[in-house]
Amino acid sequence: MAKFDYDLLTIGAGSGGVRASRLSSGFGARVGIIENSRVGGTCVMRGCVPKKLLVYGSHFALDFEDARGFGWQLGEPLFDWAKLISDKNRELNRLESVYGRILRENGVNHIEGTGRITGPNTVEVTSPDGTKEYSAEKILVTTGGWPHLPQIPGVEHAITSNEALELEALPKHLVIVGGGYIAVEFAGMFNALGVKVEIIIRAGNILRGFDDDIRDTLSEEMEKSGITINRECVVRGIEQTANGYSLRLHGTETIECDKVMYATGRKPNTFGLGLDVVGVNMDDNGAIKVDENYQTNVSSIFALGDVTNRINLTPVAINEGVAFANTQFNSNPMVMDYAAVPAAVFSTPPVGTVGLSELDARAQGEVDIYMSRFRPMKHTLSGRDAHSMMKLVVMRDSAKVVGCHMVGDDAPEIIQGFAVAIKAGATKAQFDATVGIHPTAAEEFVTMREKLPEHGH
Ligand code: NDP
Repeated sequence: MAKFDYDLLTIGAGSGGVRASRLSSGFGARVGIIENSRVGGTCVMRGCVPKKLLVYGSHFALDFEDARGFGWQLGEPLFDWAKLISDKNRELNRLESVYGRILRENGVNHIEGTGRITGPNTVEVTSPDGTKEYSAEKILVTTGGWPHLPQIPGVEHAITSNEALELEALPKHLVIVGGGYIAVEFAGMFNALGVKVEIIIRAGNILRGFDDDIRDTLSEEMEKSGITINRECVVRGIEQTANGYSLRLHGTETIECDKVMYATGRKPNTFGLGLDVVGVNMDDNGAIKVDENYQTNVSSIFALGDVTNRINLTPVAINEGVAFANTQFNSNPMVMDYAAVPAAVFSTPPVGTVGLSELDARAQGEVDIYMSRFRPMKHTLSGRDAHSMMKLVVMRDSAKVVGCHMVGDDAPEIIQGFAVAIKAGATKAQFDATVGIHPTAAEEFVTMREKLPEHGH
């Protein structure tokens, strides 16, 4: 008779939890996974996947306009937001069933309900059927994060990305507070669909932490496309009006709109999990503190993904899940390497980035910068006033390319490939020795020969 009900009980069936669970089960562990919402988690149900489907949908508006420059004569295209949302939801239902099947086929027991840790080896699950306690040798917390809104008067009138993905109708005038990933992605999507979009940021620029040339180029391109960016601006309160909402700024200044969305970051989902009861260490944000093996200070309790609030990206959580399962249940200790994790922002135009920003590289030594700003070939005929930016950051002493950044069409697809070169430690000479593919934008990365003599950032 086994000492525990399970070898592993995972709380949270998102990207990290599902990967860790199904691999652990494949390695012979008896695994249960607890989920109180839809299997698939933030990325599949409320984040990356639905967002990208809507971004794809919005791009047709630009494509129809661009087509006119290539000989196409089109009538006024008709767009049906409700149909896009319902088609997107159909795809999410399909993905949810795929995730459920993956768990079943890998022998993971899906336990529906809300988990709460009651001891180092016990979890209580509450569902409409009642409450039941399970025991496990190891408990893995993969409960992800949730939007966090500053507590200003009237903030309850604001929606978050969760609701923005489910709107019944397009707003006319949308104000988005925040300038991070979610704010710029949704701004581009709604703007392309004809919504008047204003962003409000407390800082001087969007996308804090990204290379400054990415920030400058993207904000410029967004403004050219019609998005207003209100900089160094703080919302003091939100009031409902006859036609929508009024946002109170400094003094008597206000912005009127018919929808307000907050994208002011996310917080780890640790509230009510019982972690404090068993003494698991967390930081001030509620993020669970773990070591390189995702182990907390309570040796039977582990955590990975957004709930640890480190690099909050789906592929990072998935890789952490792989390392966890191999280390704990496959006698194959793996430690994830967090260097040069590439990232993309599906703004309009999109961003792709890997490695160090110029600023971070300069903190490590002398650098050379190679940069290209150009009008993409497609827009010579489309007539669109859009520009791309590509940039390499090279350490002068090692000649290694430590940063590769792009704003422009296909940037996420292009940067994924270059991320391999950065990860492998490629030098600028090796970039130069690589033959370009012509005519592409990507070839710029292997044909930039002139260092920037002097650079603003
Ligand atoms: P981010 O952390 O990216 O950005 C938060 C934004 O909100 C910043 O502009 C920040 O401003 C602003 N902000 C924070 N607090 C306040 C406040 N009190 N008042 C006004 N502004 C505030 O968070 P997001 O919500 O955009 O996204 C959450 C995370 O989800 C991302 O960090 C990323 O890890 C992940 N994500 C990844 C995506 C991708 O890979 N493509 C897509 C979407 C999300 P400031 O700059 O001044 O700090």
